[in-house]
Amino acid sequence: MIFGSVAIVGRPNVGKSTLFNRLTRSKQAIIADAPGVTRDRLYGRVSRVEPKDAFDEYVLIDTGGFETKDYNFQPFGQDLVWQQTKVAIDSADVILLVFDGKDGLMPHDRHLMRTLQKLNKPVVYLVNKVDGPEQQALQWEFHELGINELIYASAAHNRHIYDVALALEQALDGVGSLKRRKDQRDAIPIALIGRPNVGKSSLLNRLTGTNRSLVSDVAGTTRDLVDETLTYHDQMFRVVDTAGLRRKSKIEDPLEQLTVIQSIRAIDQAEVVVLVITPDGLKEQDAKLASLA
Ligand code: GDP
Ligand code: MG
Repeated sequence: MIFGSVAIVGRPNVGKSTLFNRLTRSKQAIIADAPGVTRDRLYGRVSRVEPKDAFDEYVLIDTGGFETKDYNFQPFGQDLVWQQTKVAIDSADVILLVFDGKDGLMPHDRHLMRTLQKLNKPVVYLVNKVDGPEQQALQWEFHELGINELIYASAAHNRHIYDVALALEQALDGVGSLKRRKDQRDAIPIALIGRPNVGKSSLLNRLTGTNRSLVSDVAGTTRDLVDETLTYHDQMFRVVDTAGLRRKSKIEDPLEQLTVIQSIRAIDQAEVVVLVITPDGLKEQDAKLASLA
């Protein structure tokens, strides 16, 4: 399953395409000893490294990076490459910003960093071309950026690439759980109501494809409210199975009474109420429930 997307951004020639090939384990991207070779966006898939038995993949996008009119290696004007890069940045969940450990920190790096930080998306920062430990000691100027989690790696020499992969997965997981929480908040609540034993719990199980709610042919087995979510056409729904409603006069058991109150509350909260009836004719209770809804 695809669980997110990452766009690689950075000045030309910092090693974005080398990194892309390394992470996708491919030779898809053209690596060149000259800036401005990657102009378009290139898409690849990366398998999760952690946990090892996960089959999840994310989409990695190689871009031409940061090229603007005043910093342009392309033969065309109007920031064409940067326009392409921006499309990738907009669509990605996480940005991987690459610096060049050999060149050191450049004014355009800072500019790009500020631009990205305004986007409200997680950014993973990487100093590439740190081919060995001795080079890492020379990277003090990147501390000026005030980034706590700066990764030093070498795409060409396969150094600390695992750390890069882990950092990307962590950032993607963060975005994923935020999205799920938002989806749950936006879920449309649906209440399933009906006389005891009309098949509400079976219906819920059919809809959500689970066996979570207790189904039995003994009337009134559902005591608590059962909550299940399902997604249909990108919209999440929260289905609440209410206990079989009894006519108030027949309620003696205080637990039953509580369930009725909960059910009324469920109807209250729901945006859609499903009243389940059976072909053996409408009963007085069905009418009462309909009017309650
Ligand atoms: P891009 O323009 O950002 O996509 O950069 P490329 O991936 O095309 O790489 C530009 C140049 O940097 C090429 O000559 C690469 O071989 C070289 N390069 C990439 N990664 C590393 C690295 O980790 N160490 C060193 N020493 N060179 C690298
Ligand atoms: Mg490139």
